[in-house]
Amino acid sequence: MTAALVLFSGGQDSTTCLAWALDRCERVETIGFSYGQRHAIELDQRAILREKLAAMKPAWRRSLGDDHTLDLSALGAISDTAMTREIEIVADEKGLPNTFVPGRNLIFLAFAAALAYRRGLTRIVGGMCETDFSGYPDCRDDAIKAMQVALNIGMESRFVLETPLMWKTKAATWALAQATGGEALVNVIVEDTHTCYLGERGALHAWGRGCGQCPACRLRAEGFSKWKSG
Ligand code: ZN
Repeated sequence: MTAALVLFSGGQDSTTCLAWALDRCERVETIGFSYGQRHAIELDQRAILREKLAAMKPAWRRSLGDDHTLDLSALGAISDTAMTREIEIVADEKGLPNTFVPGRNLIFLAFAAALAYRRGLTRIVGGMCETDFSGYPDCRDDAIKAMQVALNIGMESRFVLETPLMWKTKAATWALAQATGGEALVNVIVEDTHTCYLGERGALHAWGRGCGQCPACRLRAEGFSKWKSG
C-alpha cells in the first residue's frame, strides 16, 4: 500500500484513519468537504490535527502530503437535516436520526475517487463503521463495497476503498489509536478532534470536548469509558 487519500473531517474516526494510513503508506493526502454543515468547527480542527500528527513521527511527516478541501454546498442546499439546519435531532420511525444526510458518503466517495484518480492515489481510506454507528445506511460495508465496484467500473481504475473501523466498536477505535500512536495520539484525539453535533467545544471531558448529550457525544463518551474499563 503506497499512496492513499484519506477522507478527513477532523473527527475522532477520520483522525484515527489518518494515523492508520500514515503508518502504512509512503504518501498520504487528505480531503475534507464543506457542505453547509451547521458547525464548521470540525473543519477548523483539520489543519491543527494534520500538524500534530506530522510532529509525532518523522516517518509520518515524510508521508503526509497535500490537503484538499472541496466545496459541496450544493449538498447542504438540497438536504433538510439536523446537520445542515438549526432543528432538533430526532429519530424517524425506523430509528434513523435526522442527522443523516442522504447520499453524503456516496457523494464524498465519488469526489474522493475523482481527486485520487488525478493525484495517482490508489487507496481511499474512510472512517465508515457499521458496528457502533448511528444507523446511516451509507456507512455500511455493503454500500462501500458497492461504491468500490461502481467507481472502478466508471473510472476504469483499481481503487481499493479501505475502512479500517468498519467492524470496530467505538472502544476498539480508541484501542486502535493507542496501538498506532500511543498515548500521544490518544491525547491529540481527545483534545483536538471534534465530534459534537451541536458544535460545542467547552469543557474538556476525559473523552474530549462536546455537549455530552447529543448522539455523537454519547457514542464517543461511551466508547471511551468502555475502552478505559476494558
Ligand atoms: Zn454533543
